[in-house]
Amino acid sequence: MPELPEVEVTLRSFAERIEGATVTDVRLGKALRWPLGCAPRTLVAQAVGSASRRGKYLWLPLQRGGLLMHLGMSGSLAFNAGGAAPGPHDHFDLVTERGTLRLTDPRRFGAVVWSSSLDADPARRLLARLGLEPFDPKFTGAHLKAALRGRRIAIKQALLAGAIVVGAGNIYACEALFEAGIDPRTRGDRLSLARCDRLAEAVRDTLSRAVELGGSTLRDFRDAHGMAGEFQAEARVYGRHGLVCRRCCGTVRRIVQGQRATFFCPGCQRR
Ligand SMILES: [Zn+2]
Repeated sequence: MPELPEVEVTLRSFAERIEGATVTDVRLGKALRWPLGCAPRTLVAQAVGSASRRGKYLWLPLQRGGLLMHLGMSGSLAFNAGGAAPGPHDHFDLVTERGTLRLTDPRRFGAVVWSSSLDADPARRLLARLGLEPFDPKFTGAHLKAALRGRRIAIKQALLAGAIVVGAGNIYACEALFEAGIDPRTRGDRLSLARCDRLAEAVRDTLSRAVELGGSTLRDFRDAHGMAGEFQAEARVYGRHGLVCRRCCGTVRRIVQGQRATFFCPGCQRR
């Protein structure tokens, strides 16, 4: 599943190239998660503005409104100059004078939804519950500490929920908790400010590193999710259960929390 770093890498792959281009055609394939919400022809002749990301959503502004896009479980977006005909899994094409932005999505949980602005529905509703961006200076240990007040759930699950900070998906939450030395089962409200500081920093570092690695494997990303693959190869705990911890020579464990696998090192990570 595309996580925040993949979405960020995707954004960087086309944002500058498509900015200022005029839409010449819109092609729809099979139904995606939600309907487009406007007649496709109304997008034609509009110029594309500066694309941005919020959580795992991409926002592609046009002169009148814009398109909110999500890659769902298996989607990928690519901007290509060539005019290749859509394949069976290509369900949205935004054709411009400079090339085509194409959503390929075999499982069709992805979405392209028109909204008059980010502050109006449906965009506002879809983005309303998202936590802070991990690279937002407001995402600090103090913010984390305040958001965890009264939260009895395990810190790993609090991160995964995305309501405090976005982007800490399963791989990145496991890795960040390892970097911060925090047992993933620790109750959220039991974390000290100092540990919250370490965790906020670890979340930021883990995600920025994943974005960097994604940039280096962008060519293969579309087919193979090369970013996640590359990041996993260097993971400290994710997918390494039963193997020797790279820091303390203990053994990495796998447990299940909220139906998701959690990987951690009992030697390095404390409650
Ligand atoms: Zn260890």
